[in-house]
Amino acid sequence: MFSINHILEPKTLKEAILYYDENPKLKVIAGGTDVLIHLHHGKLEDVELLSLRKINHLDEVKLQEDGTIVIGAMTTFSTLFRDKIINQYISILAEASVSMGGPQIRNIATIGGNICNGAVSADSAPSLFTLNAILRLESKKGVRMIPIQDFYEGPGKVKLLQGEILTHILITEDNYHEMKGKYIKFSNRKAMDIAMLSVAVTGQVEDEVFKDLRIALGVSAPVPVRCSKAEDYAVGKECSEETIKKIGELALSNARPRNSWRGSKPYRQHLINVLTQRAIKEIVFKGGGKDDEKN
Ligand SMILES: Cc1cc2nc3c(=O)[nH]c(=O)nc-3n(C[C@H](O)[C@H](O)[C@H](O)COP(=O)(O)OP(=O)(O)OC[C@H]3O[C@@H](n4cnc5c(N)ncnc54)[C@H](O)[C@@H]3O)c2cc1C
Repeated sequence: MFSINHILEPKTLKEAILYYDENPKLKVIAGGTDVLIHLHHGKLEDVELLSLRKINHLDEVKLQEDGTIVIGAMTTFSTLFRDKIINQYISILAEASVSMGGPQIRNIATIGGNICNGAVSADSAPSLFTLNAILRLESKKGVRMIPIQDFYEGPGKVKLLQGEILTHILITEDNYHEMKGKYIKFSNRKAMDIAMLSVAVTGQVEDEVFKDLRIALGVSAPVPVRCSKAEDYAVGKECSEETIKKIGELALSNARPRNSWRGSKPYRQHLINVLTQRAIKEIVFKGGGKDDEKN
């Protein structure tokens, strides 16, 4: 059924990197929920696969002594949404993880595969953008660290260099300490559907003032985007209804949504504004502020 020539299953990262260096035509496979669909649709033929599944320690979440959270690229979404470290410090990623696919997909799909397939609808991306995640890529040439914001090139395109494997995703303490987060996925169905639009907000509220606010959108441009204009406007402002309304409007300035069968451009624009405001209100509420919709 699948046009697979051969599959390599190294047990160490070093071995995988050597195989990949010797044969750059190998197709990396993690959980396979995207790769196998491509094979099924005939987009890949006579392929030689390099599976990362048997490599030890690539599926772990760790908290380093300096407070950096390190997520192995092979960590599945089921592991992520149950993980203690993720839930305690960056619960926004747990929210995003549980919104992804259905149980069967979450049990096998990995965060590394979600990032490397470059889909604009990838559920992990907006949250990781707001957390300023750093990607650790390794090849025979060495290690490269790149901010996730610089990794996306276009729909389905990422800046993986020849022979590179994504090994870990790192989130430093200054990017989550005292921060609250909210991820909202909007899709046509409640489960097993990719996002029509998604919004992630991470922020810190102190004495009802935005000390820090990061907003990222999925399916709103050819790549996931941060809403820099809205963020700059917000910092230092009081968390009033008026400010939040203005932030929602400004979020549109970094977006370039398009028409698709999942949703029209005007509908997506409406969602960006409304969902950004909704996510911010949640942050304000979590940060001890007042949420008029809840009080
Ligand atoms: C029924 C169904 C529902 C889905 N629902 C959702 C959803 O709701 N939200 C969502 O975001 N996605 C969804 N997806 C898409 C898919 O499941 C995700 O993108 C998933 O995270 C991909 O991970 P994987 O481990 O299966 O990747 P794979 O299919 O193994 O790989 C994906 C791509 O990344 C490359 N790759 C993988 N790992 C690495 C690595 N460590 N280093 C370098 N390259 C690598 C592969 O070569 C390939 O190009 C769905 C898919 C299906 C089939």
